[in-house]
Amino acid sequence: MTENSYELLGYRMIKINKNFLLVVVLFASISYATSEKENEKPADEIPGLGNPEVTEIAENVLAITGLYHSAENGFYVNAGIIFTSRSVVFIDSGMSIASGEFLWNIAQRRMKGDENLYLILTHNHSDHVFGMRVMKEKGAKVIAHNVVRFWFKRLNGERYKEILRKRQGWSPEKADEIFGEVILSEPDEVVDRDAVFKIDGDEIHVLVTPGHVPSELSVYHPKSKTLFAGDTIYEGSALTTRFGGPNQWRQWISQLDRLKKLEINTVIPGHGKLCAKEEIDRNINYLRGEIEKREK
Ligand SMILES: [Zn+2]
Repeated sequence: MTENSYELLGYRMIKINKNFLLVVVLFASISYATSEKENEKPADEIPGLGNPEVTEIAENVLAITGLYHSAENGFYVNAGIIFTSRSVVFIDSGMSIASGEFLWNIAQRRMKGDENLYLILTHNHSDHVFGMRVMKEKGAKVIAHNVVRFWFKRLNGERYKEILRKRQGWSPEKADEIFGEVILSEPDEVVDRDAVFKIDGDEIHVLVTPGHVPSELSVYHPKSKTLFAGDTIYEGSALTTRFGGPNQWRQWISQLDRLKKLEINTVIPGHGKLCAKEEIDRNINYLRGEIEKREK
């Protein structure tokens, strides 16, 4: 299969980089490429999908980077999928139904069909939750911070979409085209302190890491030493600090200090490229700089 045909499948492949444990995803078969031919469109022409890349960062652990974000200008959002022997665990769902469907399709190609499904939301923001309807309709059990329940009670999908639509200056038609029909369901299970979920022998550590917002969770998978950081860690860019002030930023730094102690092979940040643990220091320094500026 040529590089081009990968592009047409809707996502780009990452080449093997032995230093960083990235393995090319192999499940996009030629038959899939053929059967989908009539519908082929470059990913960035599918409204609300962005330019996703799928990377198998460890056995049965996928990172999906480059999903659509309304900020555009090269800004994207990430998600992850962990496959255990009998379950599939999604971490975040992208900013649109198109993104949610993309994640579902990626997972489905590896599934037998009777897996238990879970969706862990790293926080309540649109760019991480708008795709959730897709997993929910397939029967996924949604796990999130307690505070997310409060938010989703107040702000159903359509109301949240309307806020973003006005902010973007979009027509209702454009918002529908990009986001799709968003339904935010209250979580099935909530946490307000660190929790370990044992799923078919795999441990999934759900860590409460407030700072960006109070509902922030990070997900650690010890077996693969992967950290799904949500917006607790940004790679390469400015951190979104506008939801708090110095007190929240200090809390954020203390959570980053805590995450640094974990044994980590790969960080899947909420935004930006896959990265190593060292990126945490850049995030800490950024926040220290913001506190200094504010308290000068
Ligand atoms: Zn985000």
